[in-house]
This record gives sequence, structure tokens and C-alpha cells, in this order.
Amino acid sequence: MDRESGGTLPEMAEIWQETLNWQPTIEQGNQLQKLYDLIVLANRQINLTRITEPKEFWEKHLWDSLRGVAPQQHFLPELNAAGSIIDIGSGAGFPGLPIGIVFPHYQVTLLDSTRKKVNFINSAIEKLPLSNATTILGRAEEIGQDTPYREKYNLAVIRAVASASICSEYALPLIKKGGLAIIYRGTWTQEENQNLEHTANILGARIELIERFTTPLTKSVRHCVYLRKVLHTPISFPRPVGVPTQNPL
Ligand code: SAM
Repeated sequence: MDRESGGTLPEMAEIWQETLNWQPTIEQGNQLQKLYDLIVLANRQINLTRITEPKEFWEKHLWDSLRGVAPQQHFLPELNAAGSIIDIGSGAGFPGLPIGIVFPHYQVTLLDSTRKKVNFINSAIEKLPLSNATTILGRAEEIGQDTPYREKYNLAVIRAVASASICSEYALPLIKKGGLAIIYRGTWTQEENQNLEHTANILGARIELIERFTTPLTKSVRHCVYLRKVLHTPISFPRPVGVPTQNPL
């Protein structure tokens, strides 16, 4: 297909069909379009995201968000049944909001430490509307030690927040034993892999899959790292606010 296309929802839907074997329903399409409009509008007043051109938005925010939950181009079976997912450091709502739109029976929690971002997500949830999404204003280090949230989620997603090793310290305490943490990355190096293996081992997880793929329009390289939690995370993790970034495992 013509890779110059992709600037509109119908063109993007064709690409989704080709790359994920999935097409949005009319309602999902309307919600995805509305999300774009809300972000462009809000971005005039607050600095939410650099990605606002339509093609870039469809590819780097929407397609990329969904591709992460579709290892080997098939949506995770977990997402077909009832369950819960937490998006850590959600920013303007990615990947959590597109996941919430596409999987309406799955409960999505969007966590961010910046008030203006959480305020935006709250207003988007109200206007889309999305009945399966909720937010938390807070730091992953504190929420991960908080009983109502610790080891409560089936899945965690985390994109563009910190190094993979730090992301794993934020994400793994929040998921149930047996659950999956998905770390979205651009490039992926041998050194990052070694660091993550070491950290995952301390936190009770193992690397299940590392997937390399390219985005459909600009052919940018992406990696997703899938961590399976096999043991309970030791209670000393996550460490207090700031420690994971100052002193990565
Ligand atoms: N995930 C979004 C995306 O990919 O477009 C946003 C990425 S943005 C670069 C990183 C976000 O992570 C910011 O909104 C920031 O407030 C949040 N963040 C960073 N450290 C955090 C922490 N320890 N706990 C919660 N949120 C955090």
C-alpha cells in the first residue's frame, strides 16, 4: 500500500488491518478521532506532547500504543477477558487511552506524577467518554508501595518514562504474580538487555520476549520488552521516590 498515506483515520484503519489484523468499530474510530482533536486543542494551552501532526499522531501515538499490546501482531489474549491494566507515566494518555478505547471491557488506570497531565486525561475520559478508565496522580515509587495498588494489575505498560531497568522497578511491584509488564522502547542494546535481566531477576520477573518492529509509515525502529512476573516482588521495591533514577539497580 502507499506509505505516503496514513493522514486520516480511514487510511490508518487500512494499515491497522494490515499490521494488526484489526479495524476500529465506528464508535472506536470516533473516539480515537476525538482524542486527537482534544489533544490538539489542549496543546494550545499546555505542553502535552510534541506529536500533533495527524500522520505522526496516528503512527507514533495510536498505532504504537496498540502495537505494544499486540506481540507478533496479535492482541494479548489477556485483553479479551476481564482484567486490569496500569499505564505508568501516561503523559497525555499513551498508551493507556487507546488501549481503553479498543478494549472497553478491560479496566485501565492511568498514572502520572504531573497534575496538568492527569487533569487533561480526566477531561478526555469524560469527553470521549470512556467508562473503563480512571487516573491516579502520584509517583510510581509510592503507588507501588500502596496496598490498594500493589500487585493488583494483570498488565502494566510503560512508554518513554525512564531506562528499561528503572521502568521495571516502577512496573513490576504493581502487577500480580503471573502478570506481564510491557516496556516500550525505541532502540535496544546488549547492555540494556543485561541490565534488565539483572533487575528483573531481583524483582521476581524474567524477560519473556523482546520484539523488534518498524512503524508502518516512517519505518522507525521500535522494541517492546515483555516481562513475566514469576515471583512476588520483594517488599523493599520500589525504593523511595527518586532512588530508582539516582541509583538504578
Ligand atoms: N507515556 C507517555 C508517552 O509515551 O507519550 C508520556 C511520556 S512522558 C515523556 C513521561 C511521563 O512520565 C511524564 O508525564 C511524567 O510526568 C511521568 N513520570 C515520570 N516519572 C514518573 C514517576 N516516577 N511516577 C509517575 N509518573 C512519572
